[in-house]
Order: sequence, then structure tokens, then C-alpha cells
Amino acid sequence: MTGQILNGNSMDDYPLTLTSIVDRAERFHANRGVISRRPSGDVNRTTYGEVAGRARRLAHGLAALGVRDGDPVATMLWNQSEHLELYFAVPAMGAVLHTLNPRLFPEELSYIVNDAQDNVIIVDESLLPVFETIRDSREFAHVVVVSHTGDIPAGMLDYESLVANNEPIEWPVLGEGRAAAMCYTSGTTGRPKGVVYSHRALVLHSLVVALPDQFAVSARDTILPVVPMFHANAWGLPYAAALAGAQLVLPGPQLDSESVLDLLAAEHVTMTAGVPTVWMGVLSSLDAEPDRWDLSALNRLIVGGAAVPRSMLEGFDRHELSIVQAWGMTETAPLGSVCRVPEDLDQASNSDRYNYRIRQGVASPLVDIRARDDEGNLIAWDDTAMGELEVRGPWVAASYHHGQGAASFTADGWFSTGDVVRIDPRGCIRICDRSKDLVKSGGEWISSVDLENQLVAHPDVAQAAVIAVPDDRWGERPLAVVSLHPDVDPSVDKLRDHLAQDFAKWQLPDRFEFVSEIPSTATGKVKKSELRKRFTTEP
Ligand code: AMP
Repeated sequence: MTGQILNGNSMDDYPLTLTSIVDRAERFHANRGVISRRPSGDVNRTTYGEVAGRARRLAHGLAALGVRDGDPVATMLWNQSEHLELYFAVPAMGAVLHTLNPRLFPEELSYIVNDAQDNVIIVDESLLPVFETIRDSREFAHVVVVSHTGDIPAGMLDYESLVANNEPIEWPVLGEGRAAAMCYTSGTTGRPKGVVYSHRALVLHSLVVALPDQFAVSARDTILPVVPMFHANAWGLPYAAALAGAQLVLPGPQLDSESVLDLLAAEHVTMTAGVPTVWMGVLSSLDAEPDRWDLSALNRLIVGGAAVPRSMLEGFDRHELSIVQAWGMTETAPLGSVCRVPEDLDQASNSDRYNYRIRQGVASPLVDIRARDDEGNLIAWDDTAMGELEVRGPWVAASYHHGQGAASFTADGWFSTGDVVRIDPRGCIRICDRSKDLVKSGGEWISSVDLENQLVAHPDVAQAAVIAVPDDRWGERPLAVVSLHPDVDPSVDKLRDHLAQDFAKWQLPDRFEFVSEIPSTATGKVKKSELRKRFTTEP
């Protein structure tokens, strides 16, 4: 006989599903507030109890429309209580919440709804014009409208009736490996790719998001996610808030700085989150009118999605508002790392502390990181060597939907992020470059390759390269470097008009530089590093 105990089966094999979070919100946080600002500016107040109760009815209504286990349910909604109802209802009924980004170009959206095979779509009334641009590209079985005016276009269904006319259901028992939600990323070369999140992944993600050194979500918080619920689960905040019992303030479509500040002050928000572009605008408004808003309740702003410039950290510090930088991706659900100043830097100089805070942070618990150089060797964590960051963990994608983009996953099970980093001896990462050929402007991606292909399709253009250049407001903007065929006169207007046929206005390069020849490497690739050096001035 040995004293060996290898089997842990004596513990309950309880599945980690979002249903537990939904149930908890309904049972223990029933009276905590969910506040939505409507497109009209009116504020609607409800509670987790009501949201969860309505989610049960909504699930019944969706099932009556034919939504079955594993079916995607698409949403084209803002941050609003109906979106939270769908965050609850769709995964808990065993279907898959597919959030759509209405800011994408119609061609991308059309591709996405067809790739995901969405048959039921829920659209906010204010987004019907966007929906119209993709309407003909897919035959949806049902289009459900969240109306604020009571008008429902012919052939579409009323969301409120779907909730009101159905009895609440009991949630089915699901396995933790079941798909709960999906989101497409356009942050890769080629077509957008679907990332499917399991229940287990989102439950573990919510638990870690809530930890004190991560986003520190508690029942005492009132959270305003500026980050949209259509982008990577709004950084996990809706589920983490429901789990902890934090109040949620959902800002709707008005995300200009004054509207954000009004809501932060009026609702005594304690924590908010969004991309740097939003906070740049907010900072200018605060600088212009420092006493206009009472933000004494606000104790942290989680900022990520793009690098946080030092000037922004300093700017908010002047208003006694503390920014915490986080890094993540659609493929990582999205939390990957958080930058919290370690205790031993408490007494360090301001400059040392800022040098730390501009970094993307230390990997979140349960997330593994490593980085490899061009030769495929692991880099030392000496803050000097540079390599592409690879991650793995319980909420990191192991593949894309339909097995696309397989090259992003290593043979030994890591996801290659396309972010080039240095890692310091503490394990704190600093993004220095990007191996993916993309520009991130205001939190949204623009493909350099797509712009280049379109430029060279113009009869005047011999060669074209698009690079990201730093921009005060948007983080990055595209700059096009173009060499023309002999004897043609450079014309920015002509090239811009040509691109405007296929790209949204915000995706068009702000600057065009004409050169006689575009530098290339020995292997014939455009030497973007040289172009960046030549045309970039730090903002
Ligand atoms: P997305 O999947 O659209 O959320 O984009 C993820 C990408 O955004 C990452 O791979 C990075 O390139 C970029 N990103 C996210 N957070 C940060 C950050 N804190 N600093 C710099 N880049 C970031």
C-alpha cells in the first residue's frame, strides 16, 4: 500500500459556465443598477434582477424564432442594457453571441455575417442605416429591432415584443467547453477572422479581470465601459461586473469627451475603460475646464487597445486621475497583461515610474508569455532583445473559426500576436513594433496591405507602401509612400479619390509622399523600417 493520491475526482466536476454568473447576478445582485444612456440622451435605469429576468424571456423568444444550440445570434448594438440582456440570454440558452462592429466597412461586415452564418440579428434602431448597407448580402431569417421610438420597419421584429410576449425559461445545463460567444478580428492580414470563446474561457477570464491587481472589480464599483460591447467582450467588464455585483453604466453611442465626462460625473463612476483616443479628447476637455466635472468617485481608468503615451499618463495625473494600462487582443478575450507599478518602485523617481507605466505590463495570472526573434530563438528577458510576443492560456485562442489563419499558431500551441516586444527581468513587456502590417487608428484597424494593393491598381502608380505614423489624437494614422510611373504628375486628390471607392473615409491616408523609388530589402520586401525612420516624427 502507498499513500499516493493521484485522483482529484473527489471534488465536484462543476462546469464553469456563464450561467453561474447570470444566476449570481439575478440572485445576489438583483437590486444593483444597470444604467443606459439612450441615443436621445435620456437615461434608462434598470437592475441586474430585471436584466436577468428579461434575459429568460428573451431566450424563450429567440428559441421561438428557431435559435437552437450552437446557433450564432448577431448583435449590432451599442453599450446598452439590451446588449447585456443578450450577453446573458444567448450563451445561457446554449447559443453563441456574435457581436458585430458597426464601424467596419460594409464589405467586411458582409463577409463576417456570411462567414459566421448569422441568421438572426438584433439591431439598435440608430444602427439601421449601417444594417441597410449589408442587408442584401445575407438573407437573415429574422431581423429584430431595439426601437426607442416605437417604429419597427416592415419585415422586422420588435425586440420588446420578443421579451414581453414570452414566459421566462429555466437555463439548460451546459458543458463548460461549449461555445458562448464569438467576435471577429480585423487585426490580422487578410480577411477578418472569427474567435470563438468557450464558457470556461469567459468564466476564468471574468474571475481574473476582477482580481485586485488586474482591474479590481468589486461590488462597491460603478463601471462605465467606454470600450464597446461589440469589441472583445468590452474587455470582459460586463461579465466581471455581473459576477462581482458592480453597477454598470452603459454610455450608448455618444462617446464624445463631454458626454463621457457628464456621465462619469452624474453616475459617480469609480472605474472606466477605453482606448487612448477617447481619453485624449477627455483630457483636453478637462484641461480646458478643470472644475466643470466632479470626478471625485473615479479612482481608475483602464486604458488599452493601443499604446498609452507618457503625456497622457502625466496629463491625467495632473487631474489626480490614475490610468492603468492594459494590453490584450480579440484572440485573448482580451485580457493579456496589466501594468501595475510594483511596490519597489513606490519610492522611485517620477521619471522611473512613468518609464514603467508606459509599458504594457506583466502577463495576467494563468497567461503564459514568451517572445522569439527572427531566427525563432526565445529572447532573454533583459529588456534589450526584441522578439515577437507569443501567448497561451485558458482564454487564448488555439485556432480561428473554420481553421483560418493557422500560421498564427505555433506547432507547440502558442498564439503569435504580431506584436514585437522587449521583456524586462520582471516579465513586464514593452511593445516596440508590430510584425503585422496594419495601422491602428482610434482603436480600429486599417490594413496597409489592402491600401497598397489598391494604390498599385491605379494606372499612375508603380509602387506603394503604407506605414503607420504616430498621431496625437488617433494613436496612429496611415501614410502612403508612392512612386509613380515616369512622366506622370503627382496628384494626391486623384489617389485619394481612387482609394475612396473601396475604403471608408477614416481609413484613407492623411499624407501621401512621392518618392522616385521605394527602398527594398535583399529579399525584395519593402523596407518599411527605413520608410518609418524617414517619414515619422514622434508627436
Ligand atoms: P484588437 O484585437 O483589435 O483588440 O487588437 C489587439 C492589438 O492592439 C494588439 O495585438 C496590439 O497590437 C494592440 N494593443 C492592444 N493593447 C495595446 C497597448 N496597451 N499598447 C500597445 N498596443 C496595444
